Amino acid sequence: VRLVEPGADETERAAESALRPKRLRDFVGQQVVRNQLSIVLESARARGRAPDHVLLSGPPGLGKTTLSMIIAAELGTHLRITSGPAIQHAGDLAAVLTSLEEGDVLFVDEVHRIARPAEELLYVAMEDFRVDVVVGKGPGATAIPLDLPPFTLVGATTRAGLLPAPLRDRFGFTAHLDFYSTAELQQVLHRSAALLGVALTSEGATEVARRSRGTPRIANRLLRRVRDWSLVRGSGATGGGVVVDEASARAALEVYEVDPLGLDRIDRAVLRALCRTFGGGPVGLSTLAVAVGEEAETVETVVEPFLVREGMIGRTPRGRVATDAAWRHLGLEPPLTRPG
Ligand code: ATP
Repeated sequence: VRLVEPGADETERAAESALRPKRLRDFVGQQVVRNQLSIVLESARARGRAPDHVLLSGPPGLGKTTLSMIIAAELGTHLRITSGPAIQHAGDLAAVLTSLEEGDVLFVDEVHRIARPAEELLYVAMEDFRVDVVVGKGPGATAIPLDLPPFTLVGATTRAGLLPAPLRDRFGFTAHLDFYSTAELQQVLHRSAALLGVALTSEGATEVARRSRGTPRIANRLLRRVRDWSLVRGSGATGGGVVVDEASARAALEVYEVDPLGLDRIDRAVLRALCRTFGGGPVGLSTLAVAVGEEAETVETVVEPFLVREGMIGRTPRGRVATDAAWRHLGLEPPLTRPG
């Protein structure tokens, strides 16, 4: 796993869970969403009803899973977790839905990836709290309607634009999560450091926060890596407690090849190829991917979005181009004639 990649493997997932805020008041940042959501939840509690279905959209690692857990905790109900890719047949979804109890929160991660045949079923379940279970095959098949207890679907998607309109319309409340500011990430880091038993200075927090790409998951992960460094090479090695300050954060993140902007080895390889090999572009995505020995999809979904957001890569109809910021970040002079 790349250190700065928003996704995570099993062990990283476990380490992450330990740092999840459990209640809305502990959830850092996202002021607007938190405020809106608290009203939705309080109203539901006051009415003694399950709240409307909630759609959470935004890039990976910003807290969608965490929020779904918080919603269930705030309502004092159970949370069931599944994901779009796990629902390939209508039967998969029917099984999950019919096992729900009244007021349960059903979290469907990557809801835009639910298979078509299950989509229809989901619409009816969301709107009428009913599933039609099909028994038998061919002309003799019959649909038996089953009532479902009222539940709240919390759908998460990285691409709200990919959701079919009928699905999008069935969510009563949509929250868009945005990247976190450095100050907010510092807050996340201080909270996590306390849970990890690490002494984090405010300069240390700033240093880690700045390199975290606006993403709490990455901030927590970098903190754990600096903690490791500090334990075996820093203050911990000389018998002291584990301290994360500016110097240890810098030293550790240099070892892990995370640069001051949060770019890692692959990000820089892409920028170097774009500037050095292709003179700043424009160059097609697949050509660029081959040049750095990565899959085109990896470059497009994992590497590029951040570089585009940081204003280092531009997308043009003829391909990717490097901006002045990209040249400068590599310590190179931008060419006088602009490509593209
Ligand atoms: P994905 O869609 O990739 O699953 P996600 O948006 O669901 O990502 P989470 O798994 O909820 O992200 O959060 C990732 C990590 O970041 C968790 O460990 C969580 O503790 C932390 N985190 C996320 N948002 C916040 C927040 N607002 N305050 C504190 N910690 C947060």
